[in-house]
Amino acid sequence: MYDLNYYGTESVIKGEGQDPLPDLCHKCGRCCRSATTYHSYKKLQELVEQGDKEAQDFLEIFEPYESIEAARAVVPDQVEQVMAVVKDRDDMAEEEITFYHCRYVTDEGLCGIYERRPRCCKEAPAHGWSVMPPGCGFEGWQFEQREKQKRMIRDLKTSTYIMEQMSPDGESHPLRPETKLEDLRAMVDEKIKPWKTFGSEFW
Ligand code: SF4
Ligand code: SF4
Repeated sequence: MYDLNYYGTESVIKGEGQDPLPDLCHKCGRCCRSATTYHSYKKLQELVEQGDKEAQDFLEIFEPYESIEAARAVVPDQVEQVMAVVKDRDDMAEEEITFYHCRYVTDEGLCGIYERRPRCCKEAPAHGWSVMPPGCGFEGWQFEQREKQKRMIRDLKTSTYIMEQMSPDGESHPLRPETKLEDLRAMVDEKIKPWKTFGSEFW
């Protein structure tokens, strides 16, 4: 599967603190046989009708499995992993999860349309928390991305704290009086927001 966040990931996540994807794919094809999305299949279809390009790209290549059991027969470890993640999240419902397989993945696990594969394929895994199949070649890279993201947020929180302590009046930036600490906190909150699902408030 690409990701529970594969489709509909906020653009603020994309590209922020994100390194270009290295070539770590083992070409096992399991992610192409186990895609899932935040949205239900029905919602995706509605989005397609509304002209949503990302949804269109997704459903152009992916076909839904008839059931979770049908997906489990093909990619059992990944179905287990995804369902465990879904169970822990309060913004997703188990009954709304659909697994998809790509029309273009070959029997050998290769991409049959590599040169014209959509953006969602080129950018997978989207970030460190994308739920990729166990043993995916990107495991180490995803670990590094998670640590990098956490470090960035911790640094922001630390510098905000220092500025608050140094502020002469508790309201303005100690080095740039024209900047209000309130604005600084709002900026930090914006940076943290996309990662709240993964615990950024506590990093
Ligand atoms: S699961 Fe990982 S290693 Fe396998 S094809 Fe997908 S990206 Fe490549
Ligand atoms: S288009 Fe290619 S890379 Fe994308 S899911 Fe299908 S087989 Fe995989």
